[in-house]
Amino acid sequence: MTLPASLDEAVAALAAMPAAVPVAGGTDLMAAVNRGLLRPAGLVGLGRINEIRGWQYQDGHALLGAGLTHARMGRPDFAALIPALAAAARAAGPPQIRNAGTLGGNIASAAPTGDALPVLAALEANLVIAGPGGARREIPVSHLLAGRDMLAPAELIGYVRVPLLHAPQVFLKATGRTGPGRATASVAVVLDPARRGVRCAVGAIAPMPLRPLEAERWIASLIDWDGERAALAPEALGAFGEYVAAACIPDPEPPADGSPPPPLSPAVLHLRRTVAALARRALGRALS
Ligand SMILES: Cc1cc2nc3c(=O)[nH]c(=O)nc-3n(C[C@H](O)[C@H](O)[C@H](O)COP(=O)(O)OP(=O)(O)OC[C@H]3O[C@@H](n4cnc5c(N)ncnc54)[C@H](O)[C@@H]3O)c2cc1C
Repeated sequence: MTLPASLDEAVAALAAMPAAVPVAGGTDLMAAVNRGLLRPAGLVGLGRINEIRGWQYQDGHALLGAGLTHARMGRPDFAALIPALAAAARAAGPPQIRNAGTLGGNIASAAPTGDALPVLAALEANLVIAGPGGARREIPVSHLLAGRDMLAPAELIGYVRVPLLHAPQVFLKATGRTGPGRATASVAVVLDPARRGVRCAVGAIAPMPLRPLEAERWIASLIDWDGERAALAPEALGAFGEYVAAACIPDPEPPADGSPPPPLSPAVLHLRRTVAALARRALGRALS
């Protein structure tokens, strides 16, 4: 295994060994190797690259290194900066996984259950991608997750650029069990008072996080942004939850012959109720 000391060295090592794959914490990659799903010809370890293990401030944004571990993001100083990402990091698996697993690995794996992903979608975060010859390009995280813009060979996620909104934000996750577990559904809600916006993303129920844009606009129009306290009536919170859930898990289309649409299965109905409850609670907490 090669252990470069800088992002550019890591990119150069990948360019020199096209069959090698990058490995950060190894929690996803080694699980795939152990299951016989992957047999990499070589590994380029990212664990010694100090420049991507922390974060810095840049023009109202935080530039987060891809090598930040979930454990580091879960600490109070990070939680004061980006509370929803800290909450997602604290919910990401058992302690061994949180100590090793990284933000960059979570994004590159792009698993539907990746806890950081709905938060980054709601924050409309960008990725700074490092390529050969010191090249850097920036893309919305949603483009990578949707497959609209993939990493080219020898490219690495270097940083994640996240706007600092200085306003409440909440991440909630349902696992269907007690203790750490993968999400069956998750919701991130972010308030953006400067733009009088509410941004919401639902994770784990589709291949990539879903944004219920109409529900966001509707609920934002009900909030008294100039008031002393931006509270909403319980009925409005409940309606927001239902709106989000119906947008993300729509009713089946009616058949072409005009007969009534088939009912949602009990499992899908349960998932819809879960999403509605998470969205209602997340917004309620953000506004409380
Ligand atoms: C038991 C268990 C429980 C888990 N529970 C959760 C959970 O509750 N929530 C959750 O979100 N995740 C969970 N995970 C998944 C995993 O821990 C996270 O996705 C973690 O963030 C992956 O990071 P890593 O550094 O270990 O990635 P790695 O395993 O090192 O890499 C994963 C993939 O990303 C690529 N990669 C890594 N870094 C970069 C980079 N900088 N640029 C480009 N490509 C890169 C690698 O080549 C590989 O393809 C769990 C995993 C296990 C084994």
